[in-house]
Order: sequence, then structure tokens, then C-alpha cells
Amino acid sequence: MSEGRNADVIVAGAGMAGATLALSLKQAGLDPVLIDPVAFDDQLAPAFDGRASAIAYAAYRQWRALGLGDALDPHAQRIEQILVTDSTTPGAAAGAAPPFFLRFDSGEIADRSDGEPLGYLLENRHTRAALAGAVKAAGIEVLAPARVAQAAFGPRAAEVTLADGRVLSAPLAVGAEGRGSVIRAEAGIGAIGWDYRQTGVVATVRLERPHEGVAYEYFLPGGPFAILPLTDDRASLVWTESTARGAALKAARPEMFQAHLERRFGDFLGAIAVEGPVFTYPLSLQLAERMVAPRVALLGDAAHGVHPIAGQGLNLGLKGAAALAEVLVDAARAGEDIGSEAVLERYAAWRRFDTVMLSAGMDAFVRLFSNDNPLLRMARGAGMAVVNRIGPARRFFMQEAGGAVGDLPRLLRGETL
Ligand SMILES: Cc1cc2nc3c(=O)[nH]c(=O)nc-3n(C[C@H](O)[C@H](O)[C@H](O)COP(=O)(O)OP(=O)(O)OC[C@H]3O[C@@H](n4cnc5c(N)ncnc54)[C@H](O)[C@@H]3O)c2cc1C
Repeated sequence: MSEGRNADVIVAGAGMAGATLALSLKQAGLDPVLIDPVAFDDQLAPAFDGRASAIAYAAYRQWRALGLGDALDPHAQRIEQILVTDSTTPGAAAGAAPPFFLRFDSGEIADRSDGEPLGYLLENRHTRAALAGAVKAAGIEVLAPARVAQAAFGPRAAEVTLADGRVLSAPLAVGAEGRGSVIRAEAGIGAIGWDYRQTGVVATVRLERPHEGVAYEYFLPGGPFAILPLTDDRASLVWTESTARGAALKAARPEMFQAHLERRFGDFLGAIAVEGPVFTYPLSLQLAERMVAPRVALLGDAAHGVHPIAGQGLNLGLKGAAALAEVLVDAARAGEDIGSEAVLERYAAWRRFDTVMLSAGMDAFVRLFSNDNPLLRMARGAGMAVVNRIGPARRFFMQEAGGAVGDLPRLLRGETL
């Protein structure tokens, strides 16, 4: 590739946040280039990403507005209810009537959500396939496999050097390469955070009985255990354990894993059969000190990596993609320089409060719920019971989780740019 201006926006990282941003920009008339060390087709392999993501209904509207509805709808499981309980003993999921402390029901916010559910559960592999198809169909230039190795930020352009020596230039570079963002480091933006010394063990199971769109979150002493409903009466399990126990579970023989699982899960949904491999993900918190610098914007986990306790990480990235796309497209239409500090600060100001509040909230939540101290158990039980009894508080949490609170970017309202 020749030197000079190669695109309007260089998007480093073609994960779900980076690909969503590139698609939004292209559809609104800007020219992005996407870079990723992993070839798009390799991201679609069943062994690449075994997770499913709970997607807030506002974030799902954005994908529909970008034309992904036909590809995603057959794989999207509506979440109609979320039941949260605090348990001390393994096997607490069993039994006819577990003591749920919090119960969220989509019917309660139907007047404000147009009958949308609390959210959708989507396997990441289907989302990646839909995004890859749309990116190709839109004619977005994708450099993959290719790795961003260095970046320099001048008065008029960002210059990005790939590991193979190619140099790209554009008015703006977006770092969407996840927690190890090279763009963030090259821009001199620090990050704060810590390791939770926990692992997310992820597996997909087939259920004997229908789940009826109910998501369950159990706060066991080792950390949360979530049963997330998938299409076709399957469920995605996110099982938080200490790092050592997580490694042991990943290495366990299938019959051992099944035995451990049944002790946690119980039999309230009938027999359960594990489908496909068991995946493990280390859990940490990482927040960039700033979201923007001249000619640089950070997006998704590159800006804020949170604990998956409430399924908000990707949702934050998708909200960020909607806000950044809107700011850039409006600025380009007004003839402004899209990489200037004045323009980028609008994106940072729009996202800062939500990002910091949510990251801090998730962190406090993780500490509170990964703890077996009896006083803390009592306090959190009382807290949940209070929220459960107050209708407006419950509805606020549901709207917040649905991503429909605050000043929403047009894409999150389901409109095009
Ligand atoms: C167990 C678990 C469960 C989760 N569940 C949920 C959930 O239910 N709901 C939810 O909202 N979130 C959830 N999350 C969080 C969510 O998965 C992440 O927030 C999301 O994947 C981040 O997307 P991203 O595009 O920002 O980054 P990533 O997915 O990390 O993508 C970064 C991309 O950048 C590429 N890259 C890396 N280095 C370079 C480089 N040098 N140059 C160019 N490209 C590079 C990578 O190859 C990758 O494709 C969960 C996380 C975990 C661990």
C-alpha cells in the first residue's frame, strides 16, 4: 500500500466493536479501513470464541439499523426474565423453588421498550459471521491478517505502521484492539486496573426442559454462576472460579466436568449435556486513563475492559461505537476535521460518565458478590430484597441494562446515521 491518505479512519481491531464501528461509518459515507491479525474467516471457526453475549435491546436495535437483522434474528434468544439469587452451597440451583432475591420481567417495562425483551442472548460466532458478511458486502477494506505495530500522531494525520512494514495514514486512528491496544500505548494513554484472579469458565449445554427465555444468576461463594438461555433450548454457562480451579475445570475429563457441573446446576431444567469444548477466560478490570487524544479514539475493551458479571462489556463497546460513529459522521458532514481534539472530545464527553460509572459499579459488584463474609452476605441479601420490592428501582435497573437510559445515539434508537 502506498503512503499518503489511505482512508478516513483506520480502525485497528476487527472484533465486534471495531467491525460495528467500521460498518456504521461506511454506511454513512466515510471510508474506514479495518486491520486485524486474525483473518476474518478464522474468527468464525467454532473453536475461536465459545462465548455468548447478552446484548441490551438498544444495542441490538443498532445492529438491526445496520441491516444485520436477517442474519442475527434466527440466532437471537429473547431474555424475558432474569432471576438473581444468592447461594452458599453448590447445587443451589436445584430444588423446586429457589429463593430468588431479584426478579426482572420484560413485561414490566413493555410500555417503554415497545414490547422488546430485557435483551437478547447471541452466540459470538453468529454475531462475528453476520458482521464479517456485512463488512465484506459493504466493500470495506480489510487488512487481515495484519498487525498494528507502531503509530505516530502528527498535526494533520495519524500514521500507523503494520508489523509487515506497511504504513497507513488517515486523519484518525481508532484503537479497538481489546485490552492490549497498541494504539493506546503508542498514544501515551495509560491504563489502570487489576486482575480479579478469577477465570470465566464457559460451556454450552443442551437442556432437557425448555428454559422459556429465563436467565439465572447465582452468586456462589467462588463467584457468580450464570445460566443464559440460547435458541433451541440450549444455554450458555458462565461459571466464575478462582484461577486455579478454572484451570482444573478446563483440564478435567468430560465425565469429571459433567459431575462438577451437575453439582452446581442441579436438575431443575432436566438432564444437561455439554456441547462442544469448554473455554476459559481470565477476568480483569482495565480502564484507559483517557478515551481520546489528538488523532486517536479508543473503543470497546481497548478503552474499558470490565468483569462479565452483568454482561455489560460488549454493550459498552457497542454504545461507544454508536456514539463515535455519530460524532464523526456529523462532523464530516459539517466540514470539520474528524481527527481534531474538538471533535473527539464530543465522543469522550458523551461516553465518559457512563463508562466510569459502569466500570466502578461492576467492580464493586464483583467484590461484594465474590465474598463469603456472613455480614456482607446479609447486607447484599437485604439490598436485593429492597430493590426487588421497589418497582421503580427494578424498572430503572432493567432500563439501564437494556441500554435505553440517557442521551442515546441515533443508532441505539434504531435510526440510521
Ligand atoms: C466470559 C465472558 C463473558 C462475557 N459476556 C458478555 C456478555 O454477556 N455481554 C457483553 O456485553 N459482554 C460480555 N463480555 C465482554 C465482551 O466479550 C467484550 O467486552 C468484547 O468482546 C470486547 O470486544 P472488542 O471488539 O472491544 O475487543 P476484542 O473482542 O478483544 O477484539 C479485539 C480485536 O483486535 C484484534 N487485535 C489485537 N491486537 C491487534 C493489533 N496489534 N492490531 C490490530 N488488531 C489487533 C484482535 O485480534 C481482536 O479481533 C464477556 C466477556 C467474557 C470474558
